[in-house]
Amino acid sequence: MDAAPVDPAETRRLRDSLLRLLPALERFTESPPPDAIAAYRPGTVPSEPDALPVAGVGLERMIDELCIAVDNGCRISAPGFLGYITTGSTTAGALAQVANSVAGGQRYLLHAFNALEWTGLRWLAELCRLPEGVAGVFTSGGSTANLLALGAARQGAYERHGVDVATDGLPAGLPGRIYASAQAHRTIHRAAAVLGLGRDAVQPIPADRLGRVDVAALDQALRRDVAAGLVPVATVAVAGTTDTGAVDPIDQVVEVARDHGSWVHVDGAYGLVARATPDTNSLFAGTDAADSWIVDPHKWLATGLGVGVAFVRDGALLTRAFTEGHAAYLEGSFVDEGPFESQFDALAGPWSDQSVELSAPPRGVLVWAVLREIGQAGVRARVERDLGYAKELADRVRAHDRLELLCEPQLSIVCFRYRPAVEVEDIDLVNMRILERLRRETPFVPSSTVVDGAFALRACFINPHTTADVVAGLCDAVVRLGREVTG
Ligand SMILES: *Cc1c(COP(=O)(O)O)cnc(C)c1O
Repeated sequence: MDAAPVDPAETRRLRDSLLRLLPALERFTESPPPDAIAAYRPGTVPSEPDALPVAGVGLERMIDELCIAVDNGCRISAPGFLGYITTGSTTAGALAQVANSVAGGQRYLLHAFNALEWTGLRWLAELCRLPEGVAGVFTSGGSTANLLALGAARQGAYERHGVDVATDGLPAGLPGRIYASAQAHRTIHRAAAVLGLGRDAVQPIPADRLGRVDVAALDQALRRDVAAGLVPVATVAVAGTTDTGAVDPIDQVVEVARDHGSWVHVDGAYGLVARATPDTNSLFAGTDAADSWIVDPHKWLATGLGVGVAFVRDGALLTRAFTEGHAAYLEGSFVDEGPFESQFDALAGPWSDQSVELSAPPRGVLVWAVLREIGQAGVRARVERDLGYAKELADRVRAHDRLELLCEPQLSIVCFRYRPAVEVEDIDLVNMRILERLRRETPFVPSSTVVDGAFALRACFINPHTTADVVAGLCDAVVRLGREVTG
C-alpha cells in the first residue's frame, strides 16, 4: 500500500472529522470543567509544543489533539461568566462559521455568502435603528470599526480645510482633536494614534456620576480648541461605556458638536444592540443624527468572535479615506457592467476600498444566521432579560448591608463591592481577593473596574447562557467570600 501523501489537501473527510470532534464539543458546552487551567498543563496536548513537526501526524491524530484543546478551552460561554464585554457563541453562529470556512470563501465576488454579507449589514442597521442608506463594512471587531469610522471623520474634517489626508498625510500646523468622555474605550485613543493624530489628541471630557459625558465641559473644550485653530475631527458619544454601561446624552452631544462643526461618532460596540427593545428608547435619543456608528455583533448578538461593523452616513467619504487605489491584480479581470454571468465577474461590494482589510471572510453570514434564527423578537427578549438581570443584581446589592452599589446601571453592567462589617485598611484589596477567589473557586466570573476611585466588581450581562440563578448565586458568593477574606 502506498503511504498517505504528505499533503493530501482533501476535503472529503469533513463529516467523519466533525463527528470525531463533536463529543468533545458537547462535553465542553454541557459541563465545562470547573477551572480549565487546573486541567491544562504544558504537555496536556500530546505533541511537542515547541517543535515544528517535520512529518505531519495526519488528520486523525491532529483531531485527537484538537479534542484535548476543546476540553481545555476558553469558558466565556459558561453561564456564570460575566466578565468584560465578551460572549460565547450559540449553535447558529458556530454552524455559520463552519459553512463559511468551507463555502464562504471571500466576502467579495457574486455568490450566496456575499449576498448574506449585504443582508447582515442591512439587518443590523435596522435592528439598531440607524438611518436608511448608511454604508456599512464588517470588521474584525470594535477596535477596527472605531478606526474606520474615525478615519472617515478625519478625512472629512481635513477635506474641509482643502487637504486630502489619505493621499497627502496630515498637514503641518493643523493639529486635530477628538473629543470623548473620560469613560470612552481605549480603542478610540489607539485609533487616534494609528490615524496620525496621536493618542493625546483625544481630549478626555469629564463624566457625571452615572458615567455620562458632561456636555457643558464638552462644549467648553470644543469652543476653546476651535478658537485656537485646532481641527475638531470627531466627537465621540459612547452608547454603553465599557466600565459601567453608561449611555452619553447623544442628542445633546450632537447639538454641541454640530455647533462647532464636528463629526459625531457613536461608539455602540456594546450598547447599540439594546435598541432592540423600546424600553431603552429614551436613552438613545439622537442616535440617528450622528455621522458614524459602530456595533459589535460578537458581543450581545453572540455570533462568535471576530465580527464588528462600522456604519458611516457618507460611504463616499469612507472610500476616500480607505481606498486601496486601482490595482491591476484585483479589478483587472472584472467586467464593468452586468449582466454578470459568473461569480467572478465582479467584486460586488466596495469593502476593499472602505476598510483596512482586503481579503476577509463573509462575516455577515454569522449575523444573518443569528437574526434569521431568533429574529428581532429573540434579540429583544435577550436584551430585556439581561437588563432585568442587571436591575435585579442592583436591587439585591442595594438591599444587602454588606454590599454597595457603585453606579446605578443604565444597561446591563453592574458595578458593586463588598463592604466589610469590620474596619479594614484597604477595601479595594478585600474586593480584589474576593474577585480572585470567585474565579478560582466558584462558577461566577465577573471582571473588575474602578468607579470613582473605588475598585469594583463588575458584572456584565450579555451572555445568552446566563440564567436567573446566577444573579443570586453571585451575590451570595461575594458575601460569603467577603466574610472569609475579612474574617
Ligand atoms: C468592546 C468595545 C470596543 C472594542 O471592541 P473589540 O471588538 O473588543 O475590538 C470598543 N468600544 C466599546 C464601547 C466596547 O465595548
